[in-house]
Parts: sequence; C-alpha cells; structure tokens
Amino acid sequence: MWREALTAFGLVEFVVGQNVLHRLAMGVRREGADHHEAHDHQRQEQREQKNEKSAHSARRKPPTVPRPGMCRHRMPVLAFTIMTRNTVLTPGGNMVAGTSRPPHLPACLHGRSLVLVGLMGAGKTSIGRRLALRLGLPFRDADTEIEKAAGCSVSEMFARYGEAAFRDGERRVIKRLLAGPPIVLATGGGAYMDPETRAEIAANATSVWLRCSLPTLVRRTAGRSHRPLLATGDPEAVLKTLMDLRHPVYAEADLIIQCGEDSPDMTTARVLEALHAHVPPIRVKVNLAAGGYDVVVGTGLLARAGALLGGLLPQKRAVIVSDETVAALYLQALVEGLAEGGFECRIVTVSPGEGSKSLATYGHVSDALLEAGVERRTAVIALGGGVVGDLAGFAAATVLRGLPFVQVPTTLLAQVDSSVGGKTGINTAFGKNLLGAFHQPRLVLADTDTLATLPARELRAGYAEIVKAALIGDAPFFDWCEANGAALLAGDGRLQAEAVARACAFKAAVVGDDEREEKPQNGRALLNLGHTFGHALEAEYGFSGELLHGEAVSVGLVMALRLSQKLDLCARADVERVTAHLEACGMPAEIGALGRRFSVSRLMRNMMHDKKMRDGNLAFVLARGIGAAFTCRDVPPEAVSAVLRDQGCEE
Ligand code: NAD
Repeated sequence: MWREALTAFGLVEFVVGQNVLHRLAMGVRREGADHHEAHDHQRQEQREQKNEKSAHSARRKPPTVPRPGMCRHRMPVLAFTIMTRNTVLTPGGNMVAGTSRPPHLPACLHGRSLVLVGLMGAGKTSIGRRLALRLGLPFRDADTEIEKAAGCSVSEMFARYGEAAFRDGERRVIKRLLAGPPIVLATGGGAYMDPETRAEIAANATSVWLRCSLPTLVRRTAGRSHRPLLATGDPEAVLKTLMDLRHPVYAEADLIIQCGEDSPDMTTARVLEALHAHVPPIRVKVNLAAGGYDVVVGTGLLARAGALLGGLLPQKRAVIVSDETVAALYLQALVEGLAEGGFECRIVTVSPGEGSKSLATYGHVSDALLEAGVERRTAVIALGGGVVGDLAGFAAATVLRGLPFVQVPTTLLAQVDSSVGGKTGINTAFGKNLLGAFHQPRLVLADTDTLATLPARELRAGYAEIVKAALIGDAPFFDWCEANGAALLAGDGRLQAEAVARACAFKAAVVGDDEREEKPQNGRALLNLGHTFGHALEAEYGFSGELLHGEAVSVGLVMALRLSQKLDLCARADVERVTAHLEACGMPAEIGALGRRFSVSRLMRNMMHDKKMRDGNLAFVLARGIGAAFTCRDVPPEAVSAVLRDQGCEE
C-alpha cells in the first residue's frame, strides 16, 4: 500500500535506495557523489537552484534570509532552498561564510551530521541554514527534499495520501541523507517521533532540540496555512497537544537549546557554543545471555535521565531510592531530568552508610515500594553509592518477584564497580552481602559530575576498585593508573570518566563471560581480588563503615599479592609497586596503616564465614603478577595466617 502511495507521488527513489541512475531518470536530485566532486557539485548546485526556483516559486512566497556577509541587506532566497553547498564557500574546500578561514568543527561533528529537531516554528530551517554557513557544511531541509521528490507540497501529500505514507517517505529521506557525508539537516516536527529515524539520527548525527515555549510557537506559526497539522483545529490547542506528546521524545536529542525570543543569529551562536562544549557520553555495553544493557558514562546525565530511560522502561513511573546525603544533592536534578522524559516519580530515602544494608531498612524500602502502588512495570531507580544500589537492587529483585531496575551511581566505587553486574544484597549478623539476588539493571547512568561533591576519602576508596580491575587483567591500565591516578583523585573529570568507562568495560567483559559466578575457575570470581581479606577486615569493624569498603579492598589487594608472593607466584617487585602506588594515592596498603590491632584467629574465622567458601576450603584470587590474576581453591590456611602474622597481626 505504502509503496503504491510513494510511487504515486514520486517517492519511488526511496524504494530503490541508492540507484542513482534510476533517481536521475525520475527527475530526482543526485545525492552522495557530489560531495566528492567539488566542481561537478557546483554545476549541479546551480542546476538544482534553478530547478528549485521554478518548482517552489509556484507554490510559495519566498521568504528572505540575510545573506552571509551582507547582514544589513536582505536578498530573496528560495523558500526551503536546498543549499547543497553554501554558495559563498570557495571552490575546492569548505570555508566559513565570507572568509577564507576553514571552520572549526566541534569534535562531536567530526564525521557526523548535525540534525535539528523541534516543533514547527522552532526555527529549524533558519537556524539550520545559519549553522551550515558557520560550520561549512551543506544544509538540507527534510521537508523540501520530500517535496522535491514528490513534486507536491507536504500539505498536498497529507491530503492525498495521509500522514502514514508521508512519514514513511520522510523516514527514507532522512536515512538516505544521513548515509552521506556530514550535513546540517532540519527535520520536520514529527520526524523524530519515529523510533527508526531516532535510531538513525543517534547512529549518524548529533541532534539538537530547539525548544520553544507555547506562546513563541503560536506567534511564529500564526498564518502558516501550509502546516497540515495546524489546519486540523485551533492552532494553539494543536500545538499544546503536540508539545505534550513530542517533548518527552525530543528530550532524547543530544543537546537541548532553550529558545526564547532571541534572534536566529543569537540562537545559532548558542547552538554552536553548546556543540563545542558537548562531550558525548561513553556507552559501555554489558552483553548478557538475556540481552544486556548499557553503562552510560558522562557529564550532565541526571538532567537527561528521562530521555535516556524513555525508550527502555515499560512504564513512565518510577520510585527513586536514595540516601539522605545524596538526595539533598542530586534528587531534584534527577526528578527534573526524569520529568523531561514524562516520568512521574515517588521517592524513598534511607540513612547514609553501610548500616542501611540491613533487614530492617530493606523492610522499610520494600514497604514503601508497595505503598507507592508499584506494578510489575514500575521501575526502581537507585540514586547513590554502592549501599543504595545494593539495597534498592535487592528490593527491586524481590518486590512483586522483580521490578525493572536502574542504577544511577554517585560514588566512584559504585560507578566503577557495584552498579554493574547485577549483584544486589544486604548484610546480616552472619556477614556481608549474605542475603541477595542477581538482578541486572536496565541501564546504568554514571554521571561523573556527581563525583565533585564526593568526600576525598570516598573518592580514594572507589579508586581501589579501579586499581583492582587493572591488577586482575589489564597491566597497561595499571600503568595508566600510575600515570594518572593522582590527577584523577584531584578531580580531573576527563580522567575520571575515562577510568570509569575502562573499569566498567573490564567488569562488563568478566560478567558477560560468567554472569552468575558459576565458572569453576577464572570467571566472575576474579572480581573478588582482595575481597576475602577485605571482607574479613570489614567484619572486625562490624560493617559500620568506620573502615570503608574500598579501603578494606585496598589493603586486601596488597594482602592477596603478598600471599601470592609467599606461594612463590608473584615477584616481590610487583607487590612493592602496587603498595607504592596505593600509598602515593593516600590509600591504606598495609594492615598496620589501619591503626588498630587485629588477631590472626579472628580474621581467619571471618574468612571461613565468607560466602566464597566452597567445601570448607578458602577461596582466593591470587596473581602471577600485575594484570595476571587467577582463582585458587586450595590455598593452605597456614600460608594465609603466615601473611597475617607478617603484617603484625597477633595470634
Ligand atoms: P556508600 O553507598 O555508603 O556511599 C558512601 C558515602 O558517600 C555515603 O555517606 C553517601 O551518602 C555519600 N555519597 C554518595 N554519593 C555522594 C556524592 N556524589 N557526593 C557526596 N556524598 C556522596 O558507599 P560506596 O563506597 O559507594 O559503596 C559501598 C558498598 O558497595 C558496600 O556495601 C559494598 O559491599 C558494595 N559493593 C557492591 C558491589 C556489587 O557488585 N554489588 C561491588 C562492590 C561494592
């Protein structure tokens, strides 16, 4: 049916795809090759503009836009003219309009197009043209492309073939345009609503939503009789309905520019500024048998939570679980970010600290979820460190036998480790994490901006898990840590994001290989490097948080290497190198640094209670050197106690 419709109005090119000859035979403009042939392109452009003029002038009254370099004067420009190259560019190279200066392309546009989305009247075409001139890229208007191919206006297409057929052609046009070299593309207001088109844009372009208020749009669209949707009722009511429907989806664009009553030139300048500042988030894939999920690492992610989660969660309702400290800092930003995507949220807060990983707090959280009226499709979002992630994840795993779960980690430890991999749980009087479940999140949003408020001691504790990842299986990453650890801990956001992404990628690979820690050796259990010793130390503090988990891991890492050295597996030089790095970063590396006396027998007993015991044997992760860890189930207990004694522990 749609093929017939498309063929009927000349959109047959989208059916035949890249068949250039066929398109030419259909009288449709040539695409693609012209980007490589500047001179040929110029001739082509002159022909196109000539054709455009005659085709469009019959339909519309041409508006005027300022020509670059001639701001005072206005000259007529074709309505919806397709500027395949900006005519002011010098032949043979893209230059900034009116200059011999090559454009300074924002990094996010290297090899990618720029796509403008937004409601009718947002200024996509006028700002798109200006951006194209400033960036030295060709400009395309999707509606114009469709009209050219169809030989009739969008209104006529709507009237003759209906919206569905128009959308179908629109999807094909945008796909074709984005398949070529980078352009600036203004899309029709409904284009971005199509999931396939959104995916195409996400894959090939940086998208910018030009967001306008209702009064601005009403004013700008007044009298635009060629807008088919506006003709269906009172324009203000139509625009309001479209806003409610489309804004949560437009929010998925990479950048959102709030357009007030600014002039197009000012808005263009703001878009350019935002493009230059834009650092696209890094996506790390966790591939699991049941599909997997992404860890998104970057800045400003809380504000974009609704957009990032919009397509992933089955319902636009969620309960956020956070601790009081984190809630005071970041809850509002997250709630507002979720609201942008149309989410309605309820909140549950708990006290900060390890003490909240208890049966009592678990009871409080699960009751609160039920009281909030959660359904099987309502998501639980953990906003906080590893404590909140483990607790909220366990509640999500168990309430109604499982709710969709999202991790928004706000500590370095949670960003690099606990939020990824699906382990959730709480502590009992018998030990740490003894009640729990595997429950994988749908998405992990690691907003590195949140690390700015993290106390330095917590930041260092999280860094121990980064060092752990390197020690297990990535020796070059340990070199990187030695070179960059101090700057990362001093607050360098770029280094923090890089380390989070790298540690998550490492963990994702391990978890993808052995999701439920079932491999007899060298599977997920590798991630426990330093943890058998670490948990035994934490137990001595009653899991009170007096010794932070990451600090316990830091000491545990060196203990595991010392044990490996005692068993003649690891060189002394490696132990010393790791000790030196941890200490240089201000972390405890020796038991003596904890300023407390420990007993060998008590620590050995704590280890025997560890859930990693199998058939009564102690399980350890040992190492043959930096980046060469392996699991071992027959470590002689005497060797372990000897290492503890060497570290000054009493009998
Ligand atoms: P945490 O959650 O207790 O957070 C540490 C402290 O920092 C808290 O007081 C918290 O309120 C505060 N905080 C959090 N984010 C902040 C921010 N951005 N700014 C200011 N303050 C902030 O501790 P943690 O170190 O994140 O997590 C430790 C827990 O993680 C332990 O219970 C450990 O067992 C668990 N863990 C779980 C896994 C797993 O795979 N599930 C892996 C490693 C660790």
